[in-house]
Amino acid sequence: MKRIRQPIIAVLGHVDHGKTTLLDRIRKTNVAGKEAGGITQHIGATEVPIETVKQLAGPLIKLWKGEIKLPGLLFIDTPGHEAFTSLRARGGSLADLAVLVVDINEGFQPQTIESIEILRKNRTPFIVAANKIDRIKGWKIEEDEPFLVNIKKQDQRAQQELETKLWELIGKFYEMGFQANRFDRVQNFTRELAIVPISAKYGIGVPELLVLIAGLSQKYLEEKLKIEVEGPARGTILEVREEIGLGTTIDVIIYDGTLHKDDTIVVGGKDKAIVTKIRALLKPKPLDEIRDPRFRFDQVDEVTAAAGVKIAAPGLEEALAGSPVIAARSEEEVEKAKQEILSQIQSVVISTGKVGVTVKADTLGSLEALSKELQEKTIPIRKADVGNISKTDVMEALSVKDEEPKYGVVLGFNVKVNEDAEEVAKARGVPIFTGNIIYKLIEDYEAWVKGEEEKKKRELLSKVTFPGVIRLYPDERYVFRRSHPAIVGIEVVEGRIRPGVTLIKQNGQKVGVIKSIKNRNDFVQEAKKGEAVAIAIEGAIVGRHIHPGETLYVDLTKNDVVILAKQLKNELDETDIKALKMTAKVKAQEDPFWRAV
Ligand code: GDP
Repeated sequence: MKRIRQPIIAVLGHVDHGKTTLLDRIRKTNVAGKEAGGITQHIGATEVPIETVKQLAGPLIKLWKGEIKLPGLLFIDTPGHEAFTSLRARGGSLADLAVLVVDINEGFQPQTIESIEILRKNRTPFIVAANKIDRIKGWKIEEDEPFLVNIKKQDQRAQQELETKLWELIGKFYEMGFQANRFDRVQNFTRELAIVPISAKYGIGVPELLVLIAGLSQKYLEEKLKIEVEGPARGTILEVREEIGLGTTIDVIIYDGTLHKDDTIVVGGKDKAIVTKIRALLKPKPLDEIRDPRFRFDQVDEVTAAAGVKIAAPGLEEALAGSPVIAARSEEEVEKAKQEILSQIQSVVISTGKVGVTVKADTLGSLEALSKELQEKTIPIRKADVGNISKTDVMEALSVKDEEPKYGVVLGFNVKVNEDAEEVAKARGVPIFTGNIIYKLIEDYEAWVKGEEEKKKRELLSKVTFPGVIRLYPDERYVFRRSHPAIVGIEVVEGRIRPGVTLIKQNGQKVGVIKSIKNRNDFVQEAKKGEAVAIAIEGAIVGRHIHPGETLYVDLTKNDVVILAKQLKNELDETDIKALKMTAKVKAQEDPFWRAV
């Protein structure tokens, strides 16, 4: 028998923009007349029954057309993009729909952008809650009022202020490629992003938010939400938790089928699939019935998707948050589930042995997301694994460092760095990058790579000699001093000269070293093609070693040529290349190496 399940909804947004407050408000949603049924607390999730939404909707019901067949809405209690990234199902997101919370007074912030990027990548439909409208100057607060009722009570100035802030948001969304609009002005919900102005703190606009979530889920997700009620359950682990008297348990969101209390389940572990038999299925006791905090759960015989449930079973110590849970009712099903889970783990937890970066993340889901992002940027991965950054990870990076310093690093998403790992990293100079925003983490790493490359380039530039060809002016008037040092007027014919370079003659013979370069009245550190300057040459005597009108060359070593050609290619311009070729001809008289230049 097929039926439509509750959509699973995640709340995302920047820190302090009001995600937790919104979830709290939803949990406290009270409808006049208890018979409408209240909110049900699941493990790790909150269910709003559809009757509650309908009651709240009141006249707003006209916001959606057609009948709502959903049984309710299931909100995941852990807000934020980290949880969202971790919670995956069938390769996509566990959440069917998301609410992006943006503080209307602060606008877009780094985690807002990260959230949008993740939602876009996952193709998760979402609604925007423009929060904290009560902070607008002079805003009149009526708790739990629908926004469309509340807005009518505001004076002109407050209304205008809201309008301005909304337009700023709409502009930001536009920059990211989304057409957005205030929900009551949206013509087509498949093309336009709906923004609901709310105050999570006072509940203003929350009725519309719930109504829209229900309406949109019904309209656009109906097919996805149809489940075979009697089918074997599938879920995702929210958390692995030690419980007094129960041992290690897993909190799971079931998104498909029905889980029975005597089912066998296959669960994703760190590097294996765990097969175990359920000992108990637990749901939270209603708050007012908890007399002893040790007995906070009620046992149930079965749960049907979508639901949050705690599973007690032996052997869950190594279960991994974010991994799949699949119920199996026969040997064959167990084998199939094992294969499926193993192949999922193996596609994410990898050890390639390649010259690449070492990656750690808190869950399989986030590891997959970070790895994907790195692959898109063509940053090679040596090892990707779940867990905190350990000494072994640092050693792994260290082994890469010699071969390719820019990959000798550890990147960690939402993980800690173990103390010994930190020590080794410091001692051996292995950079560790950690953070909880994927794009920022990669940006930090890329900025470091760029900095290192520039540092290396600066070092090379200070070591290498650039080619240069100069000509002494033919007129004796430009011989300012004949020796100790000789000072002559020259023109740079090709390339460049700097103090410190050695000059050679057409026949390859050494002349002396440029001590200084003077351009009119100033000493300069460089003269380039076309410039007329006076140079002081230590070791040369005009009339004996050099003569007016003579062409001289900057002496180069083979090493200079190799560095210039390989590492500083982009620093050479056309005239440098000409100068190099001219110099190579001179040097080739003595050494055939230079013929190839
Ligand atoms: P989270 O980090 O996104 O979960 O943000 P919280 O829900 O913890 O909220 C951060 C702060 O903003 C708290 O002090 C909340 O009381 C406050 N806050 C959240 N929503 C609202 C709102 O609608 N109006 C006002 N004035 N404050 C709010």
